[in-house]
Amino acid sequence: MVRTPVPAHRARVDTLLAPLRARPTETVPLLDALGRVTAHEVVSPIALPPFRNSQMDGFAVRAADVAAAPVALPIAREIPAAAGEPGELKAGTAIRIMTGAAVPAGADAVVPIEDTEVDGGTVSIMRPRAAGEYVREAGSDLATGAALLPAGQRLASRHLAALAAAGLAAVAVRTPVAVAIISTGSELVEPGEPLGPGQIPDANGVALVAALRAAGAEVVAQGRVFDESAELAVAFDRAISAGAELLLTSGGISMGDHEVVRELLEPLGAHVDVLAMQPGGPQALATYRGIPVVCFPGNPVSSQLSFELFVAPLLRELAGLPAPRRESRVLDAAVLSIPGRRQFLRGRRLDGNRVATVSGPGSHLVAALAASDVIIEIPEDSVELAAGESVETWEL
Ligand code: AMP
Ligand code: MG
Repeated sequence: MVRTPVPAHRARVDTLLAPLRARPTETVPLLDALGRVTAHEVVSPIALPPFRNSQMDGFAVRAADVAAAPVALPIAREIPAAAGEPGELKAGTAIRIMTGAAVPAGADAVVPIEDTEVDGGTVSIMRPRAAGEYVREAGSDLATGAALLPAGQRLASRHLAALAAAGLAAVAVRTPVAVAIISTGSELVEPGEPLGPGQIPDANGVALVAALRAAGAEVVAQGRVFDESAELAVAFDRAISAGAELLLTSGGISMGDHEVVRELLEPLGAHVDVLAMQPGGPQALATYRGIPVVCFPGNPVSSQLSFELFVAPLLRELAGLPAPRRESRVLDAAVLSIPGRRQFLRGRRLDGNRVATVSGPGSHLVAALAASDVIIEIPEDSVELAAGESVETWEL
């Protein structure tokens, strides 16, 4: 059997999911936009700061008038922070000014109050000041029309503050991708239900709902179906009615007798594949009533890993979330891998940039995966790796 290389399947998934890149957008008030993602670049309609203002409580002066300091200047008047037009500074005088107040025309420096001595109507300035000192020029943070935020920015409080400072009350954001996840398997029961003979809890439903949310998607439907293709079709139809733009399945795509996902989707032209990877060999892609379907194998490690490899990167990108950190680490002990397969071993980081494998390569080892903090990615052409060899890891 010729196995399909991992990158080829990834490219096929990217093609299938490409329409999701044209996300609908909506405009929401700033305080509803926390954690949302900018739909477009946002330009500032005003300069930041919007006008030339004082960085200190003190006196607005002409630098030329204090060049021969110490000097005493008459205090012409006061500009409080909330004042309107700042007027003009007459040569040889000082104007009392508060932080944030507009600097009067003619003034080009502010002397902080603590550097002055005030005696009645006169202020003494002890040393010369450079032109521009403690004056914040209009637009010195951002010019009018300049980019305030890029497209695809996930909005935190600091971004909302910048939008507010620019006088914007609302922002255009992407709507999250609406996804449904259907677990298949007649052996599955709801987690927490008592287990009959041969039954197991549906771990993949929980895993994938949580992983979807962590990747910034919205889960609009979750279901569990027996290995009956009519039941799966009903679950898909319900999910589409609930607004799903992407359907994910777990199980039912390998070589057994009741592979329900294959039964339903192969007649509709599904692409069923076995990949050159371990775990997670069987994979399938389809379109159901115009909606993309990405099908993962049922073993819990396989389905979680498949989601991470093939679907999570696009969802994270759309949600403005960072990719998991990748780093090279040094194997703590020798490792064997399967020739011709990209192997994804579960690992734990150790000090000194080392990494140890956690349990074996089995695709059912759900507890070992929970005990891991990285995946160790072993290339297809590596078969034996010695302790001390460098391997690529990515953070879980
Ligand atoms: P399948 O891909 O349907 O052949 O399933 C492969 C293995 O994964 C079987 O041992 C299943 O019982 C198990 N499995 C399938 N679906 C799930 C699930 N949702 N949660 C936990 N284990 C599952
Ligand atoms: Mg099954």
